Amino acid sequence: MSAQESATLVSKELTDLARKAGAADADLVILAEGNCAYFDSATGRFAVKASGAVMGNAQNDDWVWLDLGNVIDVLDDALSNGVTPEREARLNTLLADAVTAEGQKRKASIETPLHAIAFHLLGVSWSLHTHPTPVVALASSKKAREHFERAVFPEEAVMCGAEPLFTPYADPGLAVGCVIYEHTKKYLAQKGVTPGQMVLANHGLATFGNSASEALSTTQMAVKASRIRLGALTAGGIEFMPAAGAQSMVNRQDAKSHRQQLMDDLKKA
Ligand SMILES: [Zn+2]
Repeated sequence: MSAQESATLVSKELTDLARKAGAADADLVILAEGNCAYFDSATGRFAVKASGAVMGNAQNDDWVWLDLGNVIDVLDDALSNGVTPEREARLNTLLADAVTAEGQKRKASIETPLHAIAFHLLGVSWSLHTHPTPVVALASSKKAREHFERAVFPEEAVMCGAEPLFTPYADPGLAVGCVIYEHTKKYLAQKGVTPGQMVLANHGLATFGNSASEALSTTQMAVKASRIRLGALTAGGIEFMPAAGAQSMVNRQDAKSHRQQLMDDLKKA
């Protein structure tokens, strides 16, 4: 298969994922909200949604390719030396120079750094970012961080990890990219595991996987877990799973097959 043929195939898979995530009844995004991305580790390039494209109505030419190393270089520079208009302009140039599978220039989403960070630090090839109402409701509440201290039920721990990664609010663009980059690095250093769900304060959710369906199933489970948190808050407050219990769900010998079973069930649902 030629490089262009495989890029075209990736575009189709991204379109399929975006349409599922963008379906009205999924309540994950409206209008041009949200985006998803795929990383090809063989070439070091990734495809992400073009700016302004609508997830629920995604087309195969809505995906543009960038070099992961170039985006990470800007993030490394900004994290070490600060977010400046010059570094913001460097990022914008990279986004503006992105190309479709057919080689047409089209600007990449402003939220591209989020996906680049996932590909660089988490060892995943698929990344899905949405603005689900129950997640954003909790992430916009006064005690947002506390609500995401730990998993609330076993299937959340299996699919989304024992502890969500929560990142504080920052302006769109390089600023939020730096905050996500810094907090993801801290999470990895402190916990020694990769986060399964990333909750962005006053903003949204990101989940990952090594297939499009894994990224989507993890989002679906994270959204269910947020609905459960909201329900628990109306019933007197959230009681998280015990830390050891949440961790043992993640560590279970059969956790992988349990996770696969949950994904298969979600696909059938
Ligand atoms: Zn967003």
